[in-house]
This record gives sequence, C-alpha cells and structure tokens, in this order.
Amino acid sequence: MSNTTNILTTEEKAFIKAQGLDTSDFIDVRGMGGPKNYHDMVKAKGYMYVISNYCTQGHRLKTRSGRCIICDTRNIAFQKRDSIGGTIYIAISGKYCKVGIIDNKRNSQDVLSHREFQMNSEGGYGGREGWKMIKSWNVERDLGKVEREAHRLLAKYKVDGKSYMYSYERRNAQELFECSIQEALDAVKQAMKTTL
Ligand SMILES: [Zn+2]
Repeated sequence: MSNTTNILTTEEKAFIKAQGLDTSDFIDVRGMGGPKNYHDMVKAKGYMYVISNYCTQGHRLKTRSGRCIICDTRNIAFQKRDSIGGTIYIAISGKYCKVGIIDNKRNSQDVLSHREFQMNSEGGYGGREGWKMIKSWNVERDLGKVEREAHRLLAKYKVDGKSYMYSYERRNAQELFECSIQEALDAVKQAMKTTL
C-alpha cells in the first residue's frame, strides 16, 4: 500500500471523494515518465489510478493508462468498466446473436431479466424483438476487455450498419452478430481464457 495522503492536495482529495473513488485507489508514479513505464507494474499491484506527472492542464490524477481523469471524468467510467467484474451474456433473436456486458457485480436473475426486457423494449435492440438471454457468466475482473476480445473474435460475423431507433435516437447495433450460438459461446469462452 502506498501512502498517498501526504502527496495529494486538498483539491485532489476533494475531487477523488466527489467521484466516488478513494485515495487508496491511487498509487504514486511521479517521476516514472509515461504510462508505458508504469502501466504493468500498477496493474500487477491491483491499482486502477495513479498520481503521475502533470498533464498539460496541470493535473496529476490519471488512469493507469495515463488518461487524465480531471480533464475528462468519463475516463473514470471507462476505467471502471474495463477493469471491474460483472456479467457477460449472449442473447439471441432469430439468426442474430448479441454479446454484451452488464457492469453489475450481482449476476442475479433480476439483472438479467431487466436487461432482456430492455433489449425488447422500444422496438428492440437492433430493431428486433424476441431477444432471449441464453447464457451468462460471472467475470471477476476486466469485464470490458473480455467483451472487446469476444467482439474481436466474432468480427467477421458482425452485422454492420444495422441502425435502429431507441428513445427517439438513431443508434447503431455494435453488438450484433450473425453467427451460430455455438460460435458465440466459443468466442466468449475463448475471450475469458485469453483475457483473464
Ligand atoms: Zn488534466
């Protein structure tokens, strides 16, 4: 455990608290240069955030990939989604498979049923209804990475340009694949094996 409380300024501590993070989530990497020098060490020690050299705007709080979380607080959400555990699932509708994630620690039937309901509301995901959850796994960590890897493995089956309306917005179905259930199952299992 690095003791960061003496290093952090009052403003930094206030920011950390306001974002729902904790000072113990941060490790001091000042003087180590760019993220390529510290990323792997930080990850191995189980930290998601660092106190590093100043960004161009004079901030020191970054993700372990070196993205300033004060300049763009969305980096906190990306970092959390990438690193935390949760549920990865496969849903099917006709000849289409959807591989998605739920960044919620509880892999309860309620959470899955709610997501299935969302997929079938307002015209349905990808403009289709009849989505059914067929399989889900609990992933301890790196949920976003497992998802990206599964999507990469299924890339050749990706249904491109399938836009649809949702809440009066035109959206693109990024998680839609025209493949067999077995191919989707294999991709998710492979992604968990290589990522975790
Ligand atoms: Zn910054």
